[in-house]
Amino acid sequence: MSDKADVLVVGAGIVGLFTALEFARKGYDVIVVEKNDGPGHEATSRNAGVIHVLQLPFNSLKSRLCIEGNRIYHEIDEEYGLGIRWVNAYLASTRSIYRVLSTLLTWYLHYKLPEDYRVRLVDSKYLRRVEPLVSRNVKVAIEVQGYGVVHPPTLASRIAEIVEELGSISYRDTVHSINVVDDYVLVESERSTYKARMLVNSAGLYADDVASMVGDEYRVIPIKGVMTVYDSVKIDSILAWLRIEKKHETKGGGVIPHPRGTLLGPTYGGIVDKTDYAYSDGDIVALKDKFQPLIDGPLEGLPEVIVGLRATTEKRDFIIEYSQRSTRVIHLVGIESPGLTAAPAIAKRVAGMARRVLP
Ligand SMILES: Cc1cc2nc3c(=O)[nH]c(=O)nc-3n(C[C@H](O)[C@H](O)[C@H](O)COP(=O)(O)OP(=O)(O)OC[C@H]3O[C@@H](n4cnc5c(N)ncnc54)[C@H](O)[C@@H]3O)c2cc1C
Repeated sequence: MSDKADVLVVGAGIVGLFTALEFARKGYDVIVVEKNDGPGHEATSRNAGVIHVLQLPFNSLKSRLCIEGNRIYHEIDEEYGLGIRWVNAYLASTRSIYRVLSTLLTWYLHYKLPEDYRVRLVDSKYLRRVEPLVSRNVKVAIEVQGYGVVHPPTLASRIAEIVEELGSISYRDTVHSINVVDDYVLVESERSTYKARMLVNSAGLYADDVASMVGDEYRVIPIKGVMTVYDSVKIDSILAWLRIEKKHETKGGGVIPHPRGTLLGPTYGGIVDKTDYAYSDGDIVALKDKFQPLIDGPLEGLPEVIVGLRATTEKRDFIIEYSQRSTRVIHLVGIESPGLTAAPAIAKRVAGMARRVLP
């Protein structure tokens, strides 16, 4: 006996969930197979929760799907009850010398981004009016409108709820083997044998392992990111440094509104094992040292620490492609940041690719 579906999605992270939803809304019979006992327990719940606007380089797939994903979230937020908080982001500098750079960058971003995402240069007086907690030392900032912040576990649960109204999710169900047989895909898992017309590999950190079940080769490189949440400060905007970073390790991150206060980070750690979620006091201190100069509010007490692993590849871009063996299998590999933002756009892209095998 086997369970049948039009589409089987491996992984109930945010990308697999949006993909399942996209197919289910088109009327296909969908099943999501997830090894954990609930939705979004891996990278999806261990991130900064930012619905991004900007993602460099602009010519990358992740940049294009980021802006498209952001647009879709704006459209579905209310309809789906996602509870996204729409905020401005400020790329700030404490050095007046950055004024020239900021002016050029503002012009460049204005030219690159769709019209609805307003970008402008603001001075410290304006910035302190809209975000009173910003440091007095900030001299200039680039304001980018259209960012969002969300509580990722809540978002994943909400999308899973909608998926379950239209299709089904099998939890505590690890996929062990995949075989493409003529016009269907046979999937063996812990709980069942599934027969599907097509399969989407959305297994995050383990997408390379799942791809190898079909005979395709990828290498996912996990890179650690540590974040801290302080309940002593509550800000209303995203603040990040406008800096030309020399070291990759210190790149990115920001001061981000969070339901329990303010989130700092993430760090950009080294390559680690897929199960290594350890952090040190040094990470907490480094985050505080980097971001405290951006805000006047006190970062007091022991913060909550969140550790996530980015599922990167050597390509440093999303890989969304058919299996070498069959167009009935689509792999999503290297869905690192901004995968949370891009998820609904990735789903639409996958549904488009699936037209080759699904009428
Ligand atoms: C520190 C950090 C900060 C980030 N911040 C942001 C941000 O602010 N904004 C943003 O847009 N993005 C951010 N990201 C990126 C974002 O978190 C990811 O791109 C996104 O969550 C990827 O979702 P996913 O569904 O592909 O992967 P996952 O959430 O990892 O889901 C994959 C799922 O597949 C399941 N699975 C794996 N193997 C099997 C198997 N054999 N059988 C069954 N199930 C299986 C796993 O259990 C898991 O649930 C951040 C990432 C990190 C690490």
